[in-house]
Amino acid sequence: MVEVIIDYDRCVRCLECVDVCPTDAIIAENGKPIVKDSNLCIACLSCSYVCRADAIIHRDIHIEKRFVVNVKIEEKIKKFF
Ligand code: SF4
Ligand code: SF4
Repeated sequence: MVEVIIDYDRCVRCLECVDVCPTDAIIAENGKPIVKDSNLCIACLSCSYVCRADAIIHRDIHIEKRFVVNVKIEEKIKKFF
């Protein structure tokens, strides 16, 4: 399971992560994104890719397991390790 965490100190409430999440693991509530259910996350990292504030963390994602195939996204999430 991938644990999805939103850092509300960084989040600017643009809700782009909600728009791109294909499984509704992240939804909008009262104008801010919330993690509805981390079990729904398929680790596509689309939300991290669009997040202008670098506010989304996916704990337990490991690049070496090849969850990530997009080089730009790999560079973006390396800071989590
Ligand atoms: S994309 Fe990032 S800044 Fe925008 S609502 Fe989602 S977590 Fe917040
Ligand atoms: S990694 Fe993909 S499935 Fe998981 S929360 Fe982000 S957009 Fe949704």
